[in-house]
Amino acid sequence: MTQVYNFSSGPAVLPREVMLAAQAEFTDWHGSGMSVMEMSHRGREFTQIITEAEADLRKLLGVPSGYKILFMQGGAHFQFAMLPLNLTQPDDTIDFVDTGHWSRIAIKEARRYAKVHLAAVGDGSGIPAEADWQRSKGAAYLHYCSNETIGGVEFPFIPQSDVPLVCDMSSNILSRPLDVSRFGLIYGGAQKNIGPSGLTLVIVRDDLLGHARSETPTMLDYQIHAAADSLYNTPPTYAIYIAGLVFKWLLDRGGLVAMEQQNIEKASMLYETLDASGFYSCPVERPYRSRMNVPFRLADERLDDAFLEGAKARGLLQLKGHRSVGGMRASIYNAMPVEGVKALCDYLRDFVRTHG
Ligand code: PMP
Repeated sequence: MTQVYNFSSGPAVLPREVMLAAQAEFTDWHGSGMSVMEMSHRGREFTQIITEAEADLRKLLGVPSGYKILFMQGGAHFQFAMLPLNLTQPDDTIDFVDTGHWSRIAIKEARRYAKVHLAAVGDGSGIPAEADWQRSKGAAYLHYCSNETIGGVEFPFIPQSDVPLVCDMSSNILSRPLDVSRFGLIYGGAQKNIGPSGLTLVIVRDDLLGHARSETPTMLDYQIHAAADSLYNTPPTYAIYIAGLVFKWLLDRGGLVAMEQQNIEKASMLYETLDASGFYSCPVERPYRSRMNVPFRLADERLDDAFLEGAKARGLLQLKGHRSVGGMRASIYNAMPVEGVKALCDYLRDFVRTHG
C-alpha cells in the first residue's frame, strides 16, 4: 500500500497502531472467539471493554469525581437539543458565544427550546475579548465551541463563568490537557480525535443530571444514561471499543501533555510554511489559530483543482475546504503523524515553485 496522509476533518485519520491492533483481534477478541461487534453489550467481555475505556478516559483528562462520563449516540447535533431540554425551562435564557459555523448550529437548535442571548459574536478571524462579553443575568448556562472545525478558530483559554460552562469540544478534545472542573458539561462527537463516528462523549457534572423537562424523550435524558452507566439501550459497542484503544494509545505516548507538545509542533510548522509563502493565506488571527484544523486559501482560486490533484498524487488526501467556505483545510488531529505535516509542507512549497 502506498503511504497516504489523510487530512479529513472527520471522520478522520485514526492511529495506525490502533487500526492494526483492532485488525489483529477483529474476529477473536482476547481469545473469546468473538469479534467485539458480535458481543452482547451486557456480557462480561464488553463490560471489561467499556469499564476500561471509561477509566482510561478519566485518567487521560483527569476527570474529577462528581462528573459522569456518558458514551452516547446522535453526534454533537443531538447534544444541541439535549442541552436545552435537560438544562433549561422554556423561559430560561442561554448565553452563547458565537465563533463560527458550529456555534450557530447550536444556537439555532437552542432557540427552539429556550431564549438565546448572544454574549459575543466573532467575525471569523478570532474571539472577541472576554472582558467585552455581554452576559445576561441568571443565564441557565454559557455555551461555546472550543474549536470551530470549519473556520479554524480555537479558544486559547477557558472562559470564566458563574453559571455552568458548556462546551462543544468535538474537534479538539484530547488535543491538550484540560481542567474539567471548570465545566458543567463537555461534549463531542468521536469521529475526529477519538474514534469512529456513531459515538458521542458527554462529561457532565452530577448536579446537572435529573433536571430534564417532562416532555424530554427518554433517550434524550442525561439522567437515564447516567443511571444505566451508558447501557440504557444498546450503545455503539464497536466505536466504544476503538475509542478505548485510542485512549490506551494516548496513555502509552505520555498522555495529553505529550500530545499537546506534538500538536504545537505540527501546527507551528504548517502555519509557518503558509505564512512564509506569500502565496497562501489563513483567515484567522495568530492567537486563535486552531491546532487541529488549518483553513487556508491559494492566492488564485483557479489553481484550487490543480492543487488538490497534485496533493492527491503525493498521497495527501481530503484537503478540500468545507463546501460552505471553499479553499483548503488541513485537519491535523492527534493521529496525524509529524511526517504527514512535513510532507504537506514540502508540497505547499513545491506548489508555489511550480505555480506561484
Ligand atoms: N460541532 C463541531 C465543532 C463539529 O466539528 C461538528 C462536526 N463536524 C459538529 C458539531 C456536528 O457533529 P455531528 O456530525 O457529530 O453531529
